Amino acid sequence: MQKQDIKNKKHFNRNQGQKNASSTKLNVKQQIKKSKCPISGKCGGCQYIDKTYEEQLALKDKELRNLLGGFGEMEPIIGSDNPYHYRNKVNAAFRRKKSGEIISGTYEEGTHNILPVTNCFIEDEQATKIMSTIRDLIRSFKITTHNEDTGYGLLKHVMIRTARKTGQIMVVLVTASPVFPSKNNFVKALRNVHPEITTVVQNINQKHTSVVLGDRNNVMYGKGFIEDVLCGKRFRISPNSFYQVNPEQTEKLYMKAIEFAGLTGKEVVLDAYCGIGTIGMVASDKAKEVIGVELNKDAVRDAINNAKLNGCKNISFYNNDAGKFMVGMANEGSKVDVVFMDPPRSGSDEAFMSSVMKLAPEKIVYISCGPDTLARDLKYMTKGGKYKVERMVGCDMFSFTQHIETVVLLSRNG
Ligand code: SAH
Repeated sequence: MQKQDIKNKKHFNRNQGQKNASSTKLNVKQQIKKSKCPISGKCGGCQYIDKTYEEQLALKDKELRNLLGGFGEMEPIIGSDNPYHYRNKVNAAFRRKKSGEIISGTYEEGTHNILPVTNCFIEDEQATKIMSTIRDLIRSFKITTHNEDTGYGLLKHVMIRTARKTGQIMVVLVTASPVFPSKNNFVKALRNVHPEITTVVQNINQKHTSVVLGDRNNVMYGKGFIEDVLCGKRFRISPNSFYQVNPEQTEKLYMKAIEFAGLTGKEVVLDAYCGIGTIGMVASDKAKEVIGVELNKDAVRDAINNAKLNGCKNISFYNNDAGKFMVGMANEGSKVDVVFMDPPRSGSDEAFMSSVMKLAPEKIVYISCGPDTLARDLKYMTKGGKYKVERMVGCDMFSFTQHIETVVLLSRNG
């Protein structure tokens, strides 16, 4: 971690250097033309790549105030101490060029052209090195890469996940068909160069969609999952389960969400869209009972294991659509004191929202990665004065991009 800090300082110094150099006319021109990332603009990932971190935070803070200011006071955005290389999950598509060279990287925005990524400002640095080794091995093992037009070729994508606190690393090789030639030797060669890899999984994705992972996983080496530690709890993460990509900021986000909930140990808590059970598990020490609901069955399996791993006896998980589950709870007249809700960017559906209103928990802690849908849902919940927004804060989970995470506390009126 310290090493990382020093490295980031170096990056900041370099930025500051650029800023000072911009006092001459020539350098201003150069700076406008040349982004510090060679593929920025085409990749579409980092809209704020050439802004200082302070400028990025100021922009996000302003956007949140514009969008949500009407609901109440926005607390100062929670920034990151290490805005570079935060992404613990790295995905790359693979392709063999006519010259035989193997390239891997991201799709050019709106196209199926692969932009080679050899060095990314936000991706995990170890994952970058592993991707490079995989490119070499694909070539030496003569493994074919998948061509979407002809449907020929094996390797589609590679996903690498790193658990920062435990050092465990998972490599997922996404293939178009189940047969992986010389797979044992491939894994051996990969681990020879990178003994830090703790598990290798083959994921079979025969569908022609933009979704990276298919449903079937064959473990090639290790346990088939990694474990990370967040807020003092241990979490198992399978290839298909959601896990927040910026672990350092996630801890700050979760602690803020739990602070907002003001738990006393007596509450029945619902963790909706719970993933592998992270928020609910961290909250479980301060609650009477926690119920988690999640659509992805692999994530629910991880969540159940995670409860055992952490000795949490007051938590249970349901594999269901959050909206349907809430309708069921509302119809049964269940009593819930606090609802944590952390839906995908599209927000919650009508079934969920109307059932939350019916269940009428004392507090709702809404964690959102989509400020627009958050604004829509807050409007719904505060309409008619049933709920009021008590606290709102942004947390920068995605530096260099324009994405913003927000936590909002709503309390029931009366
Ligand atoms: N709270 C978790 C996960 C948040 S991401 C964390 O912090 O890690 C949103 C989660 O919602 C994902 O795990 C996704 O699988 C799940 N999800 C998406 N649509 C859903 C639905 N309709 N019902 C329940 N869960 C859903």
